Amino acid sequence: MRYSGWKVITEGLRGNLGWTRAWRDPAPKAEYDAIIIGGGGHGLATAYYLAKNHGMTNIAVLEKGYLGGGNVGRNTTIVRANYFLPGNSEFYSHSLKLWEGLEPELNYNVMHSQRGHIILFHSDGQRDAAARRGNAIVNQGDDAELLSVSQLKEMLPYLDYNQTRFPIYGGLIQRRAGTARHDAVAWGFARAADQRGVDLIQNCEVTGIDIENGRVTGVQTTRGPIRAKKVGMAVAGRSSQVAAKAGMRLPIESHILQAFVTEGLKPVIDHVVSYGMGHFYISQSDKGGLVFGGDIDMYASYAARGNLPMVEHVMEAGMTLMPMLARAKVLRSWGGIMDMTPDGSPIIDKTHIEGLFVDAGWNYGGFKATPASGWCFAHLMATGQSHDVARRFRLDRFRTGHVIDEEGTGSQHNLH
Ligand SMILES: Cc1cc2nc3c(=O)[nH]c(=O)nc-3n(C[C@H](O)[C@H](O)[C@H](O)COP(=O)(O)OP(=O)(O)OC[C@H]3O[C@@H](n4cnc5c(N)ncnc54)[C@H](O)[C@@H]3O)c2cc1C
Repeated sequence: MRYSGWKVITEGLRGNLGWTRAWRDPAPKAEYDAIIIGGGGHGLATAYYLAKNHGMTNIAVLEKGYLGGGNVGRNTTIVRANYFLPGNSEFYSHSLKLWEGLEPELNYNVMHSQRGHIILFHSDGQRDAAARRGNAIVNQGDDAELLSVSQLKEMLPYLDYNQTRFPIYGGLIQRRAGTARHDAVAWGFARAADQRGVDLIQNCEVTGIDIENGRVTGVQTTRGPIRAKKVGMAVAGRSSQVAAKAGMRLPIESHILQAFVTEGLKPVIDHVVSYGMGHFYISQSDKGGLVFGGDIDMYASYAARGNLPMVEHVMEAGMTLMPMLARAKVLRSWGGIMDMTPDGSPIIDKTHIEGLFVDAGWNYGGFKATPASGWCFAHLMATGQSHDVARRFRLDRFRTGHVIDEEGTGSQHNLH
């Protein structure tokens, strides 16, 4: 079934009786050409592009819970391509281009909104760094623009420009950046993959990875063993645990990132805004809630909920920047498990086990990567070669020293 505005109108007139299920609920087969572990954004996008770009349709996505129940449905929905370093910049540039065509591609309204993302700066040094980053982004072929304080005051009149500690000196905007409705992205990829014959199997936890003579042969699951010639891991915060089932130790620590949403308010914040002097960023959802977040909880954890000290830290940073926030009521907060790498950049690579591939280490920025991660991981799994824009996301870079330390935070990104 094709979705369209016309379909919504005609179904509305017919009592909405004609809608069909968005995807099937198949029983697992005994064997597939390829299995993706993890039905989050990355796993579903990988399955879709394996089918679409590489003609592989005898594949399954195995999800231990329900599709989209992980971080893809928990993030703060920011989509941008304003990275600085080679490795990241070409990859996220590719991703943003895929985002721009995603709705017609998937025939799904993911509510991609290019409302602009502004990073504020608060010192001369930060202005220099922002100018340098902006130049790198423009050289990459994407858009970036420095904004003066007077331009900012017109666009964001609600900020406190005269904070005594951190006065605002200006901002760096990427106008093509913005947000997308996060769970619609999972649903859109799921539906499109299913339509191409991919089996999406929910409530199917992978409990073991079968390896014979250095080659993957399948997986053990809570719904029985399934054989496969190729297995891709796309399990985000659970990457270390799933890789351990193949005897691997990944350079990843899992930490919690929290997010918050207020009651619905009239439109007030038209962009995504990041505070340059505190860990705080904010946007407004289409329902009117102010959606914001900050830093990770600093201890390693697999609990998908955070702790109070970070709540206080985020609220304080928010109110320093935007005193009006004090009058909004926070409705909900939640957390997701982040797979933090030492340099803050991801991994899309083969492993030393033939046929076993890893897509992990998305830290707190993997939502915007969803289409490109799926595209490149599918390319790797289908061809055995890294895609050009993901060539530097190697698993061995922490041994060889070719790290991609985007934020210049040193060897322990998770403790920045
Ligand atoms: C609060 C918060 C805010 C964020 N904000 C942003 C943002 O604004 N912009 C941005 O770009 N990124 C953001 N992120 C990061 C982004 O959400 C993640 O990097 C990205 O979603 C991870 O990829 P995924 O969607 O595939 O993960 P997930 O949705 O977590 O998918 C992994 C799936 O694997 C499944 N799984 C795990 N173990 C097994 C197993 N053994 N067997 C079968 N299945 C298994 C899980 O159940 C899960 O569904 C944020 C994250 C959080 C938590």
